[in-house]
Amino acid sequence: MTLDDIQRRDATDPLAGFRSEFTLPEGVIYLDGNSLGALPRATAARLADTVTREWGQDLIRSWNTADWIGAPQRVGGKIAGLIGAQADEVVVADSTSVNLFKLLAAGLKARPGRTVILTEPGNFPTDLYVAQGVQALLPDVTVRTAPRETLLEAIDDDVAVVMLTHVHYKSGARFDMAAVTAAAHARGALVLWDLSHSVGAVEIDLNGAGADLAVGCGYKYLNGGPGAPAFLFAARALQADLASPLTGWMGHAAPFAFGDDYAPAPGLDRFLCGTPPILGVAALEIGVEIALRADMAQVAEKSRQLTALFIDRVEDRCAGLGLTLASPRAPEQRGSHIAFTHEAAYPVMQALIARGVIGDFRAPDILRFGFTPLYLRHEDAWNAVEILREVLVSEAWREPAYQVRAAVT
Ligand SMILES: *Cc1c(COP(=O)(O)O)cnc(C)c1O
Repeated sequence: MTLDDIQRRDATDPLAGFRSEFTLPEGVIYLDGNSLGALPRATAARLADTVTREWGQDLIRSWNTADWIGAPQRVGGKIAGLIGAQADEVVVADSTSVNLFKLLAAGLKARPGRTVILTEPGNFPTDLYVAQGVQALLPDVTVRTAPRETLLEAIDDDVAVVMLTHVHYKSGARFDMAAVTAAAHARGALVLWDLSHSVGAVEIDLNGAGADLAVGCGYKYLNGGPGAPAFLFAARALQADLASPLTGWMGHAAPFAFGDDYAPAPGLDRFLCGTPPILGVAALEIGVEIALRADMAQVAEKSRQLTALFIDRVEDRCAGLGLTLASPRAPEQRGSHIAFTHEAAYPVMQALIARGVIGDFRAPDILRFGFTPLYLRHEDAWNAVEILREVLVSEAWREPAYQVRAAVT
């Protein structure tokens, strides 16, 4: 395989046109879209309009005239189209962390007599911490962890909610959503899927898998901008049995009746809590609309191609240079990012970033490279490996400046 072959592949890529919808700085190969997605070209104009016209001119009238009030359901309904859900099964609200809290509490309550949240050790920190917070709040509840090899056997009659991240944030390992959901249901437990590292990059069919609950992130592959609002999903059949523990007025059956007593809104609206962050939702909507125009099967196929190419090239060009693959080799068992371990992973990543290849470091020794199919070319994966090789062969990463840890890695 030569760079020519790779460029030919890019020339016939059915998704190639999407790249120009994003602002990508000159000289940068951006392999961190799984942590903060790139800026869509349309976002600045949309935000300017939301700020100057909707806010500046129309002021409070925009809650009605610009349908600010309907934004959580409207954008949620669009996200539903990306994850195999119905429009009334998804709303945009809060952060992923807060949505985890709401759905964990609701799931526990919907399974009376069961007191265990089951998850895996090494799950994303906020998922574990939020579960631990629920445990601290509810004396009967315990958080149990089981490694994924024995996870299904650990689902017993005490488990109310199995909480898992669909694509692991470090290794990229992907659960078989349908199989795990079926196994949990056979034991009477619900499953709460965290789709943060999946949505927008891999195929997700929540309804097809019979999924119960899910949360996901707006600022990763959905390109909604830093701190974009998150979303949550609950299957329609389950919604009436779910109560939000954060009973804010936006989740009330009649928020503008201003009554003293809480009464949950019908359906999923009860999981709204406070006033929606309109500027954030406006930016998120742009990212979601771009993803909706792409064929998710093509996106997933390109993700498999980019990640396979990257693994092949690293193992060829960087053989003997201290890298070990820490992601599944089988494409159907991974998401859209690839992890390699290296004993000097932090300075190696700093040296890469200084050369325009932006990935990230995850403690203790992981180099993580995300491949957003909508804006990356095969050529980018190829060139990134050549720069990685140069950093490792020259040992440029030994430079003192690259050893200094920043607050965010
Ligand atoms: C990114 C990510 C989050 C982020 O949660 P925030 O509340 O947005 O900070 C949560 N869970 C997983 C699995 C993630 O990858």
